[in-house]
Amino acid sequence: MLVVMEKGASEEAIMKVSEKLEERGFVVHLTRGVERTIVAGVGDPTRGTDSSIEAIDGVDRVIGIMTPYKLASREFQAEDTVIEIGDVTIGGKEIQIMAGPCAVESRGQALEIAHIVKNAGAKIMRGGAYKPRTSPYDFQGLGEDGLKILKEAGETYGLKIITEVMEPGAVEMVAHYSDILQIGSRSMQNFPLLKKVSEIDKPVLLKRGLSATIGEWIMAAEYILSGGNRKVMLCERGIRTFESFTRNTLDLSAVAAAKQLTHLPVIVDPSHATGKWRLVNPMALAGITAGADGLIIEVHPRPSEALCDGSQSLTEENFNKLLAKIKQVANAVDREI
Ligand code: PEP
Ligand code: MN
Repeated sequence: MLVVMEKGASEEAIMKVSEKLEERGFVVHLTRGVERTIVAGVGDPTRGTDSSIEAIDGVDRVIGIMTPYKLASREFQAEDTVIEIGDVTIGGKEIQIMAGPCAVESRGQALEIAHIVKNAGAKIMRGGAYKPRTSPYDFQGLGEDGLKILKEAGETYGLKIITEVMEPGAVEMVAHYSDILQIGSRSMQNFPLLKKVSEIDKPVLLKRGLSATIGEWIMAAEYILSGGNRKVMLCERGIRTFESFTRNTLDLSAVAAAKQLTHLPVIVDPSHATGKWRLVNPMALAGITAGADGLIIEVHPRPSEALCDGSQSLTEENFNKLLAKIKQVANAVDREI
């Protein structure tokens, strides 16, 4: 439940409400707005009636949240979450482009791509050092050496770094080298991993599971939020359907739905959604139109030589073409880039 305090309610009143909720087994989250404080009690709603809380001095009203997710909901927070990473904001007016290779293959490759990404005007570089490959015989990533390369590429070109973390034990180490932690599709319901990233102060991009419903995806985000990390963004990367022409089916309605149901930034990954570079640009533009706050895109200077996902990677030329188009589309939907 949400306990909306009166304007200027005393600290004592806020504490009293918090204690009452905790006594009933709720976990308390405080949101201090400019005018009012909201005390959110997250837990089993059958544990107590609202009327005794409403009677506490300084309480304006009590609102029940009907959805199973609480902290992610628009009821809990009406305004959009804006994540700040230095001078880069995600979820504000500006559309953010995260781009780079599927996997870091070598220092030379990563630096070459960082240069392309920077030149095109993007601010965030993607690149996998730990790859969740379907086949154990495929390239698994360079591991910590890959992270070191990414960090160097980021520092050399003034780019923020996003990279995937696959296991709880590696979270702190991956966070040391990067600015955003990516939870891959296959890990969306790795609850120990979600709990671990909830404990650190680093933004997290949570990819939708291969066959996850919108509700399951938001509940996975709720794990991270409820553990104390409020810097969560959702990423739609296509879901498994009967269609086999594309690698996955980009669920654009999920983008619009996630924006309506939650206050979290939503990112679209047209690369994994389509698996075909020719479809990446149109789907990227569609994602922005559907309300996405950013894109995560695979770029490789020589896709035919890529160790992973070359067929869906954009060349420098195609990436630059996309950015020119995004500028137009962003303008049309009242966003900036
Ligand atoms: C990736 O972004 O490199 C990746 C493996 O994506 P997904 O988890 O969406 O399959
Ligand atoms: Mn990939």
